[in-house]
Amino acid sequence: MAYILSVFAVRNLLVLSLALNVSLILRVLLLHDSQDGSFNGFFFAEQKEEALATKITRLSSSVAPSSSLTMAEGDEDRVINLDHGDPTMYESYWQKKGDETTVVIPGWQFMSYFSDATRLCWFLEPEFAKQIVRLHNVVGNAVTENRHIVVGTGSTQLFQAALYALSPCAEAEPISVVSAAPYYSSYPLITDCLKSRLYKWAGDARSFSKNGPYIELVTSPNNPDGFARRSVVNGSEGILIHDLAYYWPQYTPISSPANYDLMLFTVSKSTGHAGMRIGWALVKDEDVARKMTKYIEINTIGVSKDSQVRAAKVLKVISDNSEGPNEGDSFFEFSYRVMAKRWKQLREAVQQSGLFSVSDFPPQLCMFLNRVFEPQPAFAWIKCEGDIEDCESFLRGKKILTRGGKHFGVNPKYVRISMLDRDKNYETFVRRLSTIRS
Ligand code: PMP
Repeated sequence: MAYILSVFAVRNLLVLSLALNVSLILRVLLLHDSQDGSFNGFFFAEQKEEALATKITRLSSSVAPSSSLTMAEGDEDRVINLDHGDPTMYESYWQKKGDETTVVIPGWQFMSYFSDATRLCWFLEPEFAKQIVRLHNVVGNAVTENRHIVVGTGSTQLFQAALYALSPCAEAEPISVVSAAPYYSSYPLITDCLKSRLYKWAGDARSFSKNGPYIELVTSPNNPDGFARRSVVNGSEGILIHDLAYYWPQYTPISSPANYDLMLFTVSKSTGHAGMRIGWALVKDEDVARKMTKYIEINTIGVSKDSQVRAAKVLKVISDNSEGPNEGDSFFEFSYRVMAKRWKQLREAVQQSGLFSVSDFPPQLCMFLNRVFEPQPAFAWIKCEGDIEDCESFLRGKKILTRGGKHFGVNPKYVRISMLDRDKNYETFVRRLSTIRS
């Protein structure tokens, strides 16, 4: 009897411990959900069917690189999430730079709302403004003379500020906002998020033929397909926003300084510091710059000074190293080399598999790096060949998460994959892609 009781007790203990473990794992999953839920909720609420795969990924891919599950799972088997353009590839460079970009902020500093009350953009930190101008001059990718700088919480906020500033307020109807497909998948979501009476998403710029004023977004190089772009609508009342998030030498040859009325840049894709949430706009027209500043004042009463100071330091180190004696170790040399290697690996994998295709890009001279090269975009725009109609689902079946063509206003035979993940994830991805046969 005593023996039976003791066996029973051990069994009970085992069942109890199993139940505790399961509940612990569920709690971890829920915690992950609540921590980054707004990010996923904002951009991908419609992707409910992916929720399960995403949950697995959150624990096993780049989002949780040191998770014990990642270590336990076989590399060839794990889910690889290349849906977001999270620029974690740059971590290793900044890690090597050690304390060069470390910023220490005493508790009493940057307490005021104001940075320089005499400036048009009164919450722009003067040192950050100085380093923006310097970096554009060093790289030669944008004209900064006679421009107003407006800082934003990422270029995402500046895009909204620009829509607010450029929309005519006396019109009976909201102004149409267009971009040539495939366009950045967040544009329609951001534009229509608040169902504004000022502006409204009107889809693919190539099929837009309405008379009257419109706003055209020109993303160059383009997200998702990497091509250099110009405006495509042939109307006389067009207002242009140039999103130049990727006009940096690791992605594309810098042929001349961009010289447009309203240009958007971001540290997210230039230096890889997406978490700082810092972007800037170079704006020709003073009234437009004032209205954008007003929008940010109403929206967030300015932009984090801590982040601006940190961004200023990062830009300064990039400029110093690009001009100094150790040019070979410069940020753009490093990032150019990584991107070149990754694109070579991708093209080899695509060729080996035979099921996919990627575009070729014409080579051009880069005035900054002083060499001729083909663009090597931050995203690969991959087409599933043959009778695969839904490339995103097909690759999800191979445990590779991508973003399908429909999010960018085109055919589901296309997917966008991020080229900016950490080495380990990227290498597992190309290895797996090369072995896919059907
Ligand atoms: N524009 C484009 C074309 C982008 O790809 C991105 C980032 N995915 C953004 C803007 C947003 O950048 P930020 O992180 O500065 O808001």
